[in-house]
Amino acid sequence: MARPQKMVIVGAGPVGSLAALYAAQRGYQVEVYELRPDLRDPRIVPLNFTKSINLALSERGINAIRHAGLPAMMQGILGACVPMRGRMIHGKKSSGALYEVAQDYDLHGRCNLAMDRGALNARLLDALEDLPNVELFFNHKLTGADFRKRKAWIEDRDRLSPSGRAREIEIDFDIMIGADGAHSAVRYHMMKFSRMDYQQEYIDTLWCEFRIEPAKAKAQADGSDMWQISPNHLHIWPGKDFMFIAIPSEDGSFTCTLFLPAGEFAVLEADPSQVPTFFDVNFPGVRDHIADAALIEAFNTNPHLPLISVKCKPYHFGSSGVIIGDAAHAMVPFYGQGMNTGMEDVRILFDILDKHRRQLAETNNPAPEQEEEDDEEDSTADAVARQAHAQALAEYSATRWVDAYTINDLAFQNYIEMRTSQSKLYRLRKSLEEFMSAHLPYFGWKTKYSLVVFSNEPYSECVRRTERQGRILMRAFAGLVTSPILAAGVYMAYSYRRPMRELWYNAVAIWQMM
Ligand code: FAD
Repeated sequence: MARPQKMVIVGAGPVGSLAALYAAQRGYQVEVYELRPDLRDPRIVPLNFTKSINLALSERGINAIRHAGLPAMMQGILGACVPMRGRMIHGKKSSGALYEVAQDYDLHGRCNLAMDRGALNARLLDALEDLPNVELFFNHKLTGADFRKRKAWIEDRDRLSPSGRAREIEIDFDIMIGADGAHSAVRYHMMKFSRMDYQQEYIDTLWCEFRIEPAKAKAQADGSDMWQISPNHLHIWPGKDFMFIAIPSEDGSFTCTLFLPAGEFAVLEADPSQVPTFFDVNFPGVRDHIADAALIEAFNTNPHLPLISVKCKPYHFGSSGVIIGDAAHAMVPFYGQGMNTGMEDVRILFDILDKHRRQLAETNNPAPEQEEEDDEEDSTADAVARQAHAQALAEYSATRWVDAYTINDLAFQNYIEMRTSQSKLYRLRKSLEEFMSAHLPYFGWKTKYSLVVFSNEPYSECVRRTERQGRILMRAFAGLVTSPILAAGVYMAYSYRRPMRELWYNAVAIWQMM
């Protein structure tokens, strides 16, 4: 029997852990190297995050986890999520009264799922630990890689050399997947072998985490809700240059994030006692849910972290290495798609690998009478596997970057749109799109948000489709404005939309029968 191919995965974040599951199920001998200690150890405070961040898990992420083929794990993950059916926008009227406005994400009731990033990661790691062909190495940092010789160097931080420094070990691999985040070491070393284009951008916004405690202490005694604000919404306190958001957690708390330009952070850092006043002016109502002392403490204690956007291509070198997730395309978090895209990378990469492995197996299978010696069989199998890897990685690189760049740009546009006042034309087009999607769904009309978040269509196709819709809409709108007859026709069509819809379905049915 040919030896299994050895796949080394660097980074045991959500994307690396999912990739390891996919690899293990395909018979690879999998080794996962993670810089940090095991995050399931309760003593561990995650690097970069104070506790953990809550994320919006949506269709692309769920679909990729579902394709890992572990229904119990999938159920466990879904069971730990809180569904968010829309945004809740908070503000203050000129009269001084507080208000909140709910905006559903989707007409068909589809939700984003709020989940603790650490809890999601822990469930993936638990599933990995049950698999016999996976080895997990925590406290192991990749420090170098040679993609031609298929060797890498790892700092084993659990074992010190006589000089007191972490011991370095050399490992080999058939294929390495770099899922080691925005500051990827795999990407850095791959650049020495591959002609990789690379660009990164820090935006002028930093983020800091806060927390709204469960209502338990305050209200649960009288049997009321465990959440202080609606649990089924992503709460937003918008501002021109900044915003504060709150995402629900299973335990009744909310993980909150303050996004603020670096200059504004500096002003508050100089006098943190001003934080409650700043919240009062800009995020009315938040002080009802977070005590002043807790606001100041969170601001002083929790790190003020940057947001980076990374674009690069190609993602691979030959048959021996590829980068996925934030390592390949870190993005600003304003579309809630970073991790979802990374998980989708895993599904797409392994689909492509499967296709090429299958095709080569069909063409290279030796006839039964040509029995080979073990060594020869090994080298033939190695050659076939390498060929499959080379073809698959090249195809993945050539196709995936278009969608990665698209979602990266969309996330960035959302950031700009949130900061700048939107043009009247933009708002008109958006309202018309929502109207069309609400009232004329049988034309397949969908908003950009629903395509990006609730479908698995390639991101680039979502943009192409909504741009096409936009052009039709603006032409139709111009026609309506200039033609009273057309306007009357649309009015009639809308008034009689039910019979029209039946007419349409009947026409389609008759057409299909013919
Ligand atoms: P990471 O999560 O960064 O994991 C990389 C792992 O590699 C880490 O464990 C790290 O320790 C390890 N590592 C690094 N270097 C080495 C090395 N040299 N050797 C070994 N191991 C190494 N995404 C969403 O989909 N929805 C959201 O709602 C959302 N909200 C967000 C909100 C904020 C404020 C931020 C900052 C991000 C948000 N994201 C969201 C993005 C999401 O967090 C990332 O896209 C996701 O964590 C990427 O996963 P990853 O596994 O690729 O990388």
